[in-house]
Order: sequence, then structure tokens, then C-alpha cells
Amino acid sequence: MASLADYKKKRRFEKTPEPPPEEKSSEFGRMFVVQKHRASHLHYDLRLESDGVLKSWAVPKGPSANPSVKRLARAVEDHPLDYAQFEGVIPAGEYGGGTVMVWDRGTYETADGSFSDALAKGEIKFSLRGKRLKGAWVLVRTTGRNWLLIKRRDRYASEVDLTIVKPTSVLTGRTLAEIARDEGGDVEKAATADPEDVPGRYQVRRRANARRAGRSRG
Ligand code: MN
Repeated sequence: MASLADYKKKRRFEKTPEPPPEEKSSEFGRMFVVQKHRASHLHYDLRLESDGVLKSWAVPKGPSANPSVKRLARAVEDHPLDYAQFEGVIPAGEYGGGTVMVWDRGTYETADGSFSDALAKGEIKFSLRGKRLKGAWVLVRTTGRNWLLIKRRDRYASEVDLTIVKPTSVLTGRTLAEIARDEGGDVEKAATADPEDVPGRYQVRRRANARRAGRSRG
């Protein structure tokens, strides 16, 4: 059931730069996005367009391209289509407060039947055509809001951890710390979700590390 009522209820739009709760469809109606979100904890939000909204799951460890790895994916409230463009800072104290990066984006297709039938059944087989995530995947409901996100076996299956080798924004090339710096967020908190050694990104890390070291000495 497509509804942005929960999305609207959780947010104060005079405080957050997140898009308003407007239902609409993309040109092809099958957009997907994965957002890296350093809120109280780091997680990756997988969103699949259906019926004018983005059906959404929070994946604490992020997607794995290894078919033998099952990743917990917790169903969360539907998001508006415009959320697929959102990269920035949700103010501290607001719902989901922290830094958001567009980590991957593209289109998807369901493998068999309609998306809403598969959603109701609790097993969604789909293929992704993103910049980083490609090929066949499945979401399987276990209990309540808990699902598992699993890569299916195909030529895109891999043991390479994409969240490690591709740590930056697919839209702007920025690290989380750089997004926080540019958009007035908490740079040190965002930097905890960046790898230590993103080429050319040492300064932000070094400053954050220096602050941490200074604090622990004091
Ligand atoms: Mn999130």
C-alpha cells in the first residue's frame, strides 16, 4: 500500500531539508536508490520505486554482492520519489538526524509478476541496473518488518565488499565527511562511516582523528 502518511508524521519539514511527502512516478516507474546514512548508526537504505513512492528497507551492514551472505533489511516507511536525489544533512535532533549520501542509483525490474504481489507475498526477486549494484537480488521476509537481502548467483556475484571499495557518493564523489562539511553537518560523526584511506581525503580524517585524540588526552 503506497502511503506517505508515516513519512510525513515523522518529519518537521520546516527543520529538515528532506523532500516533502509528494507522490509521483519516474519516467520508467522503476527507479532504485541506495543511500548511505550515518544517523545514530551507519546503515544503507535500499529504496525501490512502486506505485508513486519508494518502498524502503534499512540495511545495517549494507548490500553484499556475495550470494552466501544474507543481510538483514528492516522495512521502514515509504519515501517520496524525490528522496532518490537527496544527499545532505538531516539536522541533529530531527528524525534520522545525520548525513545522507546517494551511494548508488539506477533502475530495477522484478523477475516475475508485479512488485506489489511479490511484496505482499514476502519474496521479491528483482534485478538492479545501478552503477555499483547489478544483476539479480532477492528480498525475503522473515518475521514482522525483518527481511533478508541476498545476492542471487550470476556474473555480478562477487566477494568484493562494494561498501569498502566504493565508499563515496555516486552523484558527487564526496565522502560522508565531505557532505557533512559542505552542508553544515557533524563532520567528525560522518567521518566515522568513511574508510580510513580514501585517496585524497586524508585531511578531513586527520582533523577528525586529531580532535578525537585531543579529547581522549583531556
Ligand atoms: Mn536511513
